[in-house]
Amino acid sequence: MISSAGGGILMTLVMAAVLIFCNGLSAAAADKTPPPNPYEVERSWPPYFLEHQKLFTEKAGTYKAGKYPVWTIHVPGGWIGNSTVIEGDDGLIVYDTSVNMDAGAFIAAEIRKISDKPIKAIFYSHHHSDHYGGTAALVTPEQVADGSVKIYAWDNFEAEVANEFGAILPRQIMGVFYYGPDLLPPEDKHHHGCCSPKILGGKSGYIPPTDTFSEDVELEIAGVKMQVFYTGGEAISEFGLYLPEFDMVLIGDEFFYALANIHSIRGSKPRLPENYMKALDLVREIQPEWLLGSHIMPIQGREDIQRYVTVSRDAIQYLWDQGIRYINKGYTPAELQQQFLELPPYLDIAPFTRPMYGTPWIIAPEIYTGWVSWFSGDATDLLPTEQVEKARRYVALMGGRDKVLAAAKKAYEAGDVQFSAELTQMLVRIDPEDWDARHLKAASLRQRGYQEINTIARAWYLNGANELDGKLKPGALMAIGLQGVQSELPAGRILESWRYQVDADKVGDKRLLLGIEFIDSGDTYTVELRNSILEITQGPLADDTPKVSLSTLQLRDVLAGKPAPDGAGDTGVLMAIIGYLDRTPPDFGMHTR
Ligand SMILES: [Zn+2]
Repeated sequence: MISSAGGGILMTLVMAAVLIFCNGLSAAAADKTPPPNPYEVERSWPPYFLEHQKLFTEKAGTYKAGKYPVWTIHVPGGWIGNSTVIEGDDGLIVYDTSVNMDAGAFIAAEIRKISDKPIKAIFYSHHHSDHYGGTAALVTPEQVADGSVKIYAWDNFEAEVANEFGAILPRQIMGVFYYGPDLLPPEDKHHHGCCSPKILGGKSGYIPPTDTFSEDVELEIAGVKMQVFYTGGEAISEFGLYLPEFDMVLIGDEFFYALANIHSIRGSKPRLPENYMKALDLVREIQPEWLLGSHIMPIQGREDIQRYVTVSRDAIQYLWDQGIRYINKGYTPAELQQQFLELPPYLDIAPFTRPMYGTPWIIAPEIYTGWVSWFSGDATDLLPTEQVEKARRYVALMGGRDKVLAAAKKAYEAGDVQFSAELTQMLVRIDPEDWDARHLKAASLRQRGYQEINTIARAWYLNGANELDGKLKPGALMAIGLQGVQSELPAGRILESWRYQVDADKVGDKRLLLGIEFIDSGDTYTVELRNSILEITQGPLADDTPKVSLSTLQLRDVLAGKPAPDGAGDTGVLMAIIGYLDRTPPDFGMHTR
């Protein structure tokens, strides 16, 4: 999944932010202590919610697949991302290494209990960070460099890490905070519906792949025969393994103890429903006796597996096809949500299609966006009145702030917390310091969150309530997080991130051209600023281009405010380009605007 949370860099910065948050930055950063929320909301969970959580708490452990030399380490050390170990004649094969070095150390200790054979190969099922962060706890970079350990991934793996977890990094940081339980106080903490209670934190031990696939292949490693087959559902870099001698399929994140999350609201590139279905159809075609995955315990039984994967892929096709059926009847995204509040009972098979990770009313509008766009179809919605102005006019028409607040309270007391949230949303928009409105909106979202079974939606409601109560400081978290990124990004990705920082108001149509040579890696890039866009091209530099030569570290220093190093070349042009970047750390709440 993580859908999970993202690249190793994202994880590191989130960890930094979380640490600081836990150490009380929120109080330090606040100019004044927010008033306490007078509404008391009784904490509760839907009955199945706590039952489902046990799959990742009580059931955490190492499971052997019957008589076969294959073990899944399920929720290693409480962390997101399983690891599966296959023992061959003269070595071990590891499929996924979990999320960080802590989880990796746990996996390494479990492996030592199983076998003392050396690890020969590691597979990264896809580019979500809960699948490769533990690698350096299992093998050393030297072993990988000298070829004694091979690391396999699909050929778009690294490009997808850089792209999916690069371009929208600041917005994604916010999404990761809100969609997971990490920032919730202990009494509200819960598991992440696909996977585990612990998602963010720890140090990444990522080691890049050495061998990549561009098509389905057959391999034999340590005497174990395997077929690599592309799936591409949960992530576009995803593949599975079929081990014919063990009658077994490893399916990564294409199958969960929950409904798949077809597009993540935390911020992700679109996911393709047909790829999830194709992945599960391949399992149906193979009809294995064993099904293993990166968030499940090994499942045995041909017939059971056929039934589980069939209902899972059918649930996806149902939402897709029925979603389109209703789109063709003219339904808008909001109407689709009401139509698809839950799956019909015949498709709702616990735990495999329970709405703990994906949920129908979040998936349905995503299908609309993918096929139709964001537009409802009513031209009034094409370019609506600016939202604060609209709130102002509505509230005035409704008789003013006090009347609206009183109506919101009434709705809240009657249990209509969605409507009280909608009314107070307007008041908070008009005046973000209206604490009566903020507290009532917070209480409404909290009440709604406690009724919610989907872990992602629940976390978002509860984190939103904390933001409104002033307990969560988005700007401070973001600033610290982005600072952490500066010290981790490789040179090419630093330059790539500039594309999205060009301050068009400042730069206008000015043109600048610069060649940059990184003396540590030898990589060269031509950076051209024109028409308020940055074109970055890797490759040899033209002779007549102004040029700077510096190390990645020196560039980071310049970005941190130090003067450009002497003798580095045309540093004036470099400074001019940097001067045209909008480098103010973003500071936005999700619920106070
Ligand atoms: Zn995952």
